[in-house]
Amino acid sequence: MLTDTTAALVSNIEAGKYKNIVITTHHKPDGDAMGSSLGLWGFLRTKIDHVTVVTPTDYSENLFWLPGNERVVEWERNEELAKDIVKNADLIFCLDFNRLSRINQMGELIAQLTCDKVMIDHHLEPEGFEDFTFWNSRASSTCELIYRWIEHYFGSAHVDNQTATCLYTGLMTDTGNFQHNNTTPDTLRLAADLMELGANHLDIHARIYDVFSVSRSRLFGYCLYKKMEVIPECKTALIYLSADELKEFDVKTGDTEGLVNFGLGLKDIVLSVLIIDRTERVKLSFRSKGNFAVNEFSGKYFHGGGHKNASGGQSEFTLKKTVEYFKEKIQLYKDELQAI
Ligand code: 5GP
Ligand code: MN
Repeated sequence: MLTDTTAALVSNIEAGKYKNIVITTHHKPDGDAMGSSLGLWGFLRTKIDHVTVVTPTDYSENLFWLPGNERVVEWERNEELAKDIVKNADLIFCLDFNRLSRINQMGELIAQLTCDKVMIDHHLEPEGFEDFTFWNSRASSTCELIYRWIEHYFGSAHVDNQTATCLYTGLMTDTGNFQHNNTTPDTLRLAADLMELGANHLDIHARIYDVFSVSRSRLFGYCLYKKMEVIPECKTALIYLSADELKEFDVKTGDTEGLVNFGLGLKDIVLSVLIIDRTERVKLSFRSKGNFAVNEFSGKYFHGGGHKNASGGQSEFTLKKTVEYFKEKIQLYKDELQAI
């Protein structure tokens, strides 16, 4: 359910307490992370002169068209500037994550700062680093929460067509085009509201999904043809990719987004796993159906978290050892998975 402790924050904003606001979001931001950050940015800019979105890392090129993207500062690419902006902030919004470890070095800096911090998010188990909270693990997306927050405290007339466009993007991507079980009647009503406020759903869909490179399409074909393994006794599908394979297909940030969903499309599969050797670490993505809580599995074995049916994690082992470790651990859940 909704935890909202932002009434005092809104009074502070209205009273002009904050002069320099930073909005940040998680490592390798996705459509919801960038949509919510730039949507909130568009709204706050109408009230405060200095508002900056600072991302901890780069993100997929299919998000570069979002209104306001040209003003985003990327920590990894522009560390000194990003540090200065963050240190100078009197208010920091943390969107679409709830643990500072999700934003790498930036999290270490933010933990030390004494400025006001806000967390707006829909992931489970918040660590509680913030001063103000707008959190609901049942929300479809952080974009939904940003809309509800603006609507509740300021009124939906404050959402212009650019902000509506950003927020629709995250709503669409985090619900898997309104097909995951986080899609509720309220989500669909919100999509309709955002369309009325100026979000063009056809245009947004095309800009997000109809822009892939040939090599990215070939990578998907290769994974499905050569790489997908099925572990029938655990109703599990697995794909893993080495650093050499990423190079061979010229994989860019965001190119593997959506790949893990293919496993779940198989009959009698309830868990799908994608394991990628990102060189600096081995990254895992989990998707499940029904009651198998992948955020718990990921938290227990792979320092991860996320949602019940969609989570991620990482491993300090080599790719080969990570795959072996996963295959060993998943056997412990054979009966549970069979029952789904
Ligand atoms: P993805 O598989 O798309 O990277 O992530 C799926 C979900 O799990 C997202 O909601 C994301 O925020 C969360 N997630 C991904 N990786 C991690 C991780 O390493 N730690 C935690 N706590 N959550 C993660
Ligand atoms: Mn999200």
